[in-house]
Amino acid sequence: MGRDQYQRGTIKVKRKRRKKVRFKKRFYVFVSLFILLIGFLISRFIPDDEAVVVANEKPLEDLFTVVIDPGHGGYDGGTENKELGIFEKDIALDISLQVGQKLEDKGIKVIYTRTEDYIPWKKQPESLKGRSEISNNSNADLFVSIHGNYYEKSPLIRGMEVWCRFKDTEDERLAQSIVNNVGRLDFTEIRGLKYEDEKELYVLKNTEATSVLIELGYLSNPEDVKTLTSQEGKEKYVQAISEAIVEFKEKNFKLKNKE
Ligand SMILES: [Zn+2]
Repeated sequence: MGRDQYQRGTIKVKRKRRKKVRFKKRFYVFVSLFILLIGFLISRFIPDDEAVVVANEKPLEDLFTVVIDPGHGGYDGGTENKELGIFEKDIALDISLQVGQKLEDKGIKVIYTRTEDYIPWKKQPESLKGRSEISNNSNADLFVSIHGNYYEKSPLIRGMEVWCRFKDTEDERLAQSIVNNVGRLDFTEIRGLKYEDEKELYVLKNTEATSVLIELGYLSNPEDVKTLTSQEGKEKYVQAISEAIVEFKEKNFKLKNKE
């Protein structure tokens, strides 16, 4: 074999090798792409359990939902201060709408069981059931029912009561936080927390969300009436209630995010 021939032969072998290498490279690239494609298709069509769980949970802040339930309404005036012509239903609605507005300003979703002096339910049992259903159907985080009290035996009785279901529950913690705020703002007496074992309240018993029922004050007490009907007084009720709800949301969502 002459030198030239030898060189030519080497070049041919080199070219063949290069072709082989190129083919191998293309083959590997093709196989890699194919594997990636199959992987992608599998991930698309076989649902990942964790992904499904995340989709069903509500960890996002803007999904925190509060149902505000202004007691009574329409034909059902609730308790009444006849002398002054003040109805519980009007006070409940007024404070409820203001609390709701404060919460909406903080980015909380608010659903009202009524926003005017009208209820669609014909009788009280229907009305209570309807209010609980609004909360349960909206998968609410909180249900807050707002009422006023009356004590016919003495006009001296005054102050706020917050009803919850049991001790050592989220209900109780929210109720306690509302009462603490009333204490801090010092604008009415605190009559304290009340529980289901004293009296069963339909809307608390039948509502799935963390639930409290607030008796703002006594329509039979002149000082409470003054606070409940003055702008300054209303603002304190609204502040005490709305701040407790915002705090509750912040605590509970922090916990949820840690999970
Ligand atoms: Zn009431």
